[in-house]
Amino acid sequence: MGYPKIIVNLKKIKHNAFIINKKCNDYGISVMGITKSFLADPIITQILVDSGIEFIGDSRIENLKKIEHIKIPKVLIRIPMISEAKDVVLLSDISLNSEIKTIEALNSSSKLHNKIHKIILMIEMGDFREGILFNEIENILEKIKTLKHIDLIGVGTNFTCYGGIIPDGNKLKKFSEIVSFIENKLQKNLKIISGGNSSSLHLLGKVDFGKVNNLRIGEAIVLGQETAFGQKVKGCFQDTFILQAEIIELKLKENSLRAILALGKQDVDYEALIPLDSSIKVIGASSDHLIIDLSNSTTIYDIGDIINFRMGYFSLLRGMTSPYIKKELIY
Ligand SMILES: *Cc1c(COP(=O)(O)O)cnc(C)c1O
Repeated sequence: MGYPKIIVNLKKIKHNAFIINKKCNDYGISVMGITKSFLADPIITQILVDSGIEFIGDSRIENLKKIEHIKIPKVLIRIPMISEAKDVVLLSDISLNSEIKTIEALNSSSKLHNKIHKIILMIEMGDFREGILFNEIENILEKIKTLKHIDLIGVGTNFTCYGGIIPDGNKLKKFSEIVSFIENKLQKNLKIISGGNSSSLHLLGKVDFGKVNNLRIGEAIVLGQETAFGQKVKGCFQDTFILQAEIIELKLKENSLRAILALGKQDVDYEALIPLDSSIKVIGASSDHLIIDLSNSTTIYDIGDIINFRMGYFSLLRGMTSPYIKKELIY
């Protein structure tokens, strides 16, 4: 097949998904498995579905198109572009939203296609990425009520994405209060209260999640680590995706043994690569070359040999997206 290559261990991913889904379910929380890091590859997505997860979410509508045939509620988790409203209505069951103009566009598209599109309204809680502000809530709810082809089924919020606000019991409580305020205004209970991502996992069993009944989980499933503190998730595998790259030059340079691998910034975020041979040090990278130091390794390497890495989330995202990196699924 050739190199560089990412080896995807489906058994380990399924195991992680199962463990995390069970843990969340034990606390009354459903899981939306986030597929963007592997571009919603249909085989890997099916693995998540088989683990018992209730929803699948992806940030790109192109990815959701690839899994059109998989029967599970699909959520577009990046607030939509007005220009993609038609695809959103046809390819996703639910979308996250924070702009009334976009919601109106979704309503028009839904009407045109004789559909009802479900939305989750995103609330800003300090992370300063997407989300409506508290003082916008009443106004936007009034407008949504008039849209016959939009069904507001939930609210959501983000933590630790942009502003780096790490969730805690207080923030979940404050979010729950806002949810109650919204439910009061609507005179009904909302089905999905999606209160965070992998950075909330460590709070399960430690703090009261209040009204939160859903988490959107990407990294913890694919890499077995939570994102508030970068800790391993108990019982999960971290070696789910292994990147393999080939040595194309090996020389003693200024008293250290340096190797160049055929892999570069175009393919990965080199700062987020963890060599399985822990004595290897990643030195740096250019567009097409990755430089590593082998001086401390007890293994004797040669030109043509393969170096194995675990990958951080952004390396995984970029690596899975790179057309130059082959992908091999193992069962
Ligand atoms: C990517 C993404 C997630 C998943 O975050 P993880 O930290 O990988 O669990 C959740 N919600 C939204 C809106 C996202 O874009």
